[in-house]
Parts: sequence; structure tokens; C-alpha cells
Amino acid sequence: MLTFDMFFQQAPIGIAITQGYDPQGSDAAIVMINPEYEEITGRKKEELISLGLARITHPDDLEGYRENLRRLQTGESRAFSMKKRYLKPDGSDVWVLVTVAPLTLSEDQQGTYICLAVDVSECKAIEAALQESERSKEVFLSHLPGLAYRCNFDENWTMQYVSDGCFNLTGYPPESLLNNRDLSYYDIIVPEYREAVQQEWERIVATGQPFKYEYEIITASGEKKWVLELGQAVFNADGEVEALEGIVLDISDCKAIEDTLKYTIEHDRWTGLYNREYLITVLERDLREKKETKKALIGINLNMIQLLAVNYGFQHSQNLIKKAAETLSQYSSDKCLLFRPRENRFVFYLTDYQDKKELVDFSADVVKTLEALFVSERIGGGIGIVEIEPDQDDVDVLLRRLLVASERFVGSFGRDFKICFYDGELERLVNRERDIVEALNKITVDYDTRDELYLVYQPVVDLKKGAVVGFEALARLKTEKLGPVSPQEFIPLAEKTKLIIPLGEKIIVQALGFLNKLKEEGYDDLSILLNISIIQLLHPDFPERLLALIKRMQVDPRNIGIEITESVFANDYESVNKILEELRTAGIYIAIDDFGTGYSSLTREKEMMADCIKIDKYFADELVEADLDRAITCDIISMAHKLGHETIAEGVEQLVQLRYLKRHSCDKVQGYLISKPLSEGEAIKFLEEGNWPVGLKP
Ligand code: C2E
Ligand code: MG
Ligand code: MG
Repeated sequence: MLTFDMFFQQAPIGIAITQGYDPQGSDAAIVMINPEYEEITGRKKEELISLGLARITHPDDLEGYRENLRRLQTGESRAFSMKKRYLKPDGSDVWVLVTVAPLTLSEDQQGTYICLAVDVSECKAIEAALQESERSKEVFLSHLPGLAYRCNFDENWTMQYVSDGCFNLTGYPPESLLNNRDLSYYDIIVPEYREAVQQEWERIVATGQPFKYEYEIITASGEKKWVLELGQAVFNADGEVEALEGIVLDISDCKAIEDTLKYTIEHDRWTGLYNREYLITVLERDLREKKETKKALIGINLNMIQLLAVNYGFQHSQNLIKKAAETLSQYSSDKCLLFRPRENRFVFYLTDYQDKKELVDFSADVVKTLEALFVSERIGGGIGIVEIEPDQDDVDVLLRRLLVASERFVGSFGRDFKICFYDGELERLVNRERDIVEALNKITVDYDTRDELYLVYQPVVDLKKGAVVGFEALARLKTEKLGPVSPQEFIPLAEKTKLIIPLGEKIIVQALGFLNKLKEEGYDDLSILLNISIIQLLHPDFPERLLALIKRMQVDPRNIGIEITESVFANDYESVNKILEELRTAGIYIAIDDFGTGYSSLTREKEMMADCIKIDKYFADELVEADLDRAITCDIISMAHKLGHETIAEGVEQLVQLRYLKRHSCDKVQGYLISKPLSEGEAIKFLEEGNWPVGLKP
């Protein structure tokens, strides 16, 4: 049978019976206290009896506790329950729900109370966590740079809940959106995005993925703002959409930064045109899409800009580029994009054009415009056209082709613009040039190669003496892959790549070696004429190095001549003449090669620091084809003599030419009539045998 005592001892609830309560402070005496009370408070019965319950109550809860007791004693309340903390002996506390009520046992036992205590620390912790989560949600929502919402999945996005941030973001208070009171969220979205946002939500709801979308809204003041919406659909137990929940964030600042960044990444700073990176992006995209429409690139490569920058300053050439950009912009459209991929290059990217003819006409138009723009500047250039084949997928290859085509005619001295189509033939030519340059490169670094660069020597005959007075050294290249390559082909490439500097030095060493060999054979007075290109001549230490070589190889400078083509003088007359003077002073013989074909001709011949002019083969040919009485070759000879220059006629192939030249006192001749260029051995043999054509020996 359940007795009170059993219940008292075993109840899973703390029970204490006290005698009297003094709300002012002193504690009531504990009459009985059960083991569960000991368990909750962590204290023994004796300790509890001696301390009393008020003294182990947390000081912060004491006031409320006493107030409740007071109300109980004055009869204002019949019982009370409260949550309060008991201090445990280890300093920690425990939350308990205490219920205190008077216990009326008999008349003389007034002031007896029963106090029930339940440990609620766990609930208290949950409550605290809940409070914290509510608080942080509040904090989060009030600081959100945008609005949080819950809405119906309908065509208006009818709002069930809108956070306060709505006002800052949209200019409308949250209430005006709730249940579409004044307007719906649909009205706030910029019309052109509405359908896309709706479709995206439908997709999201169908797939159950989170929603993430950027679009623009119109605020109450009519301003447009970029927003990012993040959300998700909430489903009920039947799997139907109950609501949409999410946040709408203001990203206009990020958008503005993004736009500026995008502009900077895609545009050239100086001209505002699209840049190289964007050209690559656009091409990669279009090649990937493999659309059927015709596509082509037209590259414009301006020359002389560098030269101008040196002569007139950076700003001047920059302004010219800007002017060119502005002028070319008139041609750009959405089917003809204009780029500035490099300093002095422009590229048009054309799509959807008719045919090749349209490209050529377009380029011709551009040429006319550029020539008109640059009439007063020494600017010309190359225009390259590359049609993009439908199966082309390599942007690098395309851009390389464009460069090859547009560079084809750059570097010539002209101030005009030439157009070059990229085709199979150009490709073969370019590959051949690459092979030649590769061979020259190997030779330059003495790479163990079967490609060779060597010299042949063409005799020069003095017409008065009737004797060979020297040889012109002519370079020959033979490569394993290409066989013999003409100097007409490899010398310009060596010049373009500047390989002519080291190669030229090898040539000089070989030629001086031959001169020494001739001396050994007893031919002391013979000279060697070396062809020197402008690149070599203008190289700062050319005279110094040449003279050092001459000294090292112990040859007499008076047995050395150099040939400079006449066109060189068009380049930088003053500096060329200064260098020639220095060499001439050292005893070196100076000849102007290919005379009569270049720029300056007779007007400037007077000032040229030269000993000799070599009359171009063109004038020797005239002596065969034209009426001898009308030939001007004799005038060139007498003019040269008047200016104190010797004359050598080049390309003499027939006796009739030789006779004319002799009659008009040309000093020396060179040509197949006497001999083709010879190897060293052949040349010495030629000297020994003196196998000369009739009429040459005096
Ligand atoms: P160039 O200095 O005017 O040389 C004369 C060219 O005419 C040589 O051609 C020569 O072989 C050729 N020739 C000589 N006599 C006759 C003739 O009677 N009839 C015909 N049809 N041709 C004749 P090559 O050897 O092919 O050289 C071509 C050009 O290459 C040279 O013209 C010269 O400007 C350049 N070159 C050759 N060797 C060197 C070199 O070592 N250094 C430099 N910088 N240029 C060189
Ligand atoms: Mg020559
Ligand atoms: Mg010549």
C-alpha cells in the first residue's frame, strides 16, 4: 500500500515542507525534505536544513522569489510557480520550476508550506537557444541589404511575409506588398525580365533545386536596381508547393563594378576599341558554335609608327593611332567588329558577308580612307585578309595567319597600303621562309648542321688594264631541306630577323680568308668587294668590328671594298654618309651598288662618300634591247667621272655591251661574259688560265 512516506521518499519530484516564511530575508525552517530535492540541488539533507532554501537561491532570482512569497503570505495569491536557479556546491546552477503552496494540516500548524521542485535546466537551455536563434534571425533580417519574403507560387508572387528591408530596396513599405495591397512583386520587376524569372521559378519548382537569378527591379522612385534573388520552394506533405521563400539582395554596386571590370577587360584603354583578349573570346565562342555564316578577319598593320615615335615623340604617334581608330570606327557595326589587338594593329571581324569580292572592296575602301588620313605622314602598311573556314577551330592558327598576311608588305619603305589574301600559296611561302630562317639560325650558332652558307666570287675586270683586279664576294645558302636558296630570297629574311649581323660577320671572315689565300698564291693586288646591308652598316659597332677583323686577319684595308645599295641612302642619308666616311678614311673602298634603280640617284651622288658606283644591270640590258644612240648609260658614266667616282658595269653578258662600255670609258665590268661567280678553287684557276673572251685582252 502506497503510504505518504513511500511517495515522499521515491517521488521523481523534489518535495520540501517548511515551517514559516519570512519574506524579509530570514529563511523558513525546513521540516522535511526528500531525496529528489537532494538530487536536484546537489546538497545533503542536513546541509539544506541548515542553509535554508533562500540562501541557495541564485541572487538574481531572489527578488522575484521573495515577492512571490510575500503575495502568498498576504493572501494575494494562493500558490505560485516560478522558474529559479539553485546554486550548487560546485558553483554551477540548476534551473528548477518551483511551486509553493500553503499546507493546511491543522489549526495550530499554520505557516506550513509545501515546495515542489522540478529540474528544468534542459528546457531552459532549449529556450535560450530558441531565443538566440530568434534574435539572430531578427538581426539578420534587419541588416539584410534587401528583403526576405514568403509568397504564394502564383503569377503575382503574392506576398505572405515581407521583411522591413523591403523599404530600403524597393522604396515601398512591406505592407503595400503584403497580399498585393498596393502592388504586387510582379509589378516591381522590370518588364523584360518578368517572363524569364517566372520560367526560372517553374523550372526550379519542377526540379526542386534552389533558385538563384539576377534581374532588375524598378523602385518607387523609378530607379532601376540590379538584384540577386535566392530562394526555394516549400512543399507540403502532399508534395504540392505551399510557398516560395527567399531573399532578394541589392547587387547594383557589384553590378557596377562588374560592368566596369568587364569594360576594362574587353577594351583597349587608349582608343576605347575592343582589345586582343576580347577578339580571342569572340572568335573562340564563334568557332565553338560552328555557325554556317561566313566569317573573315581583316588585319591592318601600320608601319613607320615606331620610327615616328622615335622622331616625333610618343604622344604624336599615340595621337595618330587614336585618329586611325576613330576613322576606322565608321566601318564598325554588329556584323563588322573593330579591335585594336596590338600597338599598331587593327582588326575587323566580319560576319555574314557575301563573298571574297565584298572583302576586297571593303579593304580597298579602308585603304583609301587610311591613305587620305595619313597623307602627310610617312605611314603605310599591310592589310591581311583571312577567311575562316567552317571547320576551323584554332584561334591561334587564325591569328597567326592574319599576322602573316598583314605583315606581308609591312617593312617596305613605301607609304602606301597593300592588301594580301591568306591562301595556300602564302602558306607555302611562309613555311618556306620559316625553314630558311631556321637554317640561318642554326648556321649562326654553329649548330652541327648540313646546311651551309658559303661564298662564291665573281671576277671584276679593269677595262684599261685588261686584267682581273678583284672579285665580288656573293653569299650562297644550301640547306638540306630546300637545296640552293638564292641570296635574293635569304638575304632579306636575314635582314628582317637581324640574323644578317652574325651571318655578315661570318661572310667577312670567309672573304678575308680568301684574300689571304690569293696573297699566298702571289696575287697581292687583288681586292675583294663585300656586300653589306643597311642593317649591318647602321649597327653601332660595325666600323670598329670590321677594322678589328681586318687587323686580326692581317689584310690590307686597301684590298677591301664594301658595296652598299643605293636605296640605303633613302633611309638615313646623314648617318650612312658619316659611317662611310669613317671607313673610307681607314682605306676601305666604297661602292654604291645597283646604282640608278634607287631613290636618290644623281642629285645626291655628289655628296655620297663613295669611290665607285656600280651601274645596275638594267643599264647594261639597255645596251642590247634599245637603240645604242639613245642609251643613257654613257651619261651615267661621264656624270660619275665628273664627280670623281669610278664606274663598274654589272651584268655584262654580251660583247656588244662590252664594246659600248669600253668606248664610253667605263672603268670596270663584271658579268657572265667574263665569268659567273666561282668557288675559291675555280677563281684561282681562272686567274691562272686567263681564259678570257675575245676582245677583252688589250
Ligand atoms: P648584287 O650585289 O647586285 O650582285 C650581283 C648579282 O648579279 C649577283 O646575284 C650575281 O650573281 C648576278 N650577276 C652577275 N653577273 C651577272 C650577269 O651577267 N647576268 C645576270 N643575270 N646576273 C649576273 P646573286 O649572287 O644572286 O646576288 C643577288 C644579290 O644578293 C646581290 O646583288 C646582293 O645585293 C645580295 N647579296 C649577295 N651576297 C650578299 C652578301 O654577302 N651580303 C649581302 N648583304 N648581300 C648579298
Ligand atoms: Mg653587289
Ligand atoms: Mg648589284
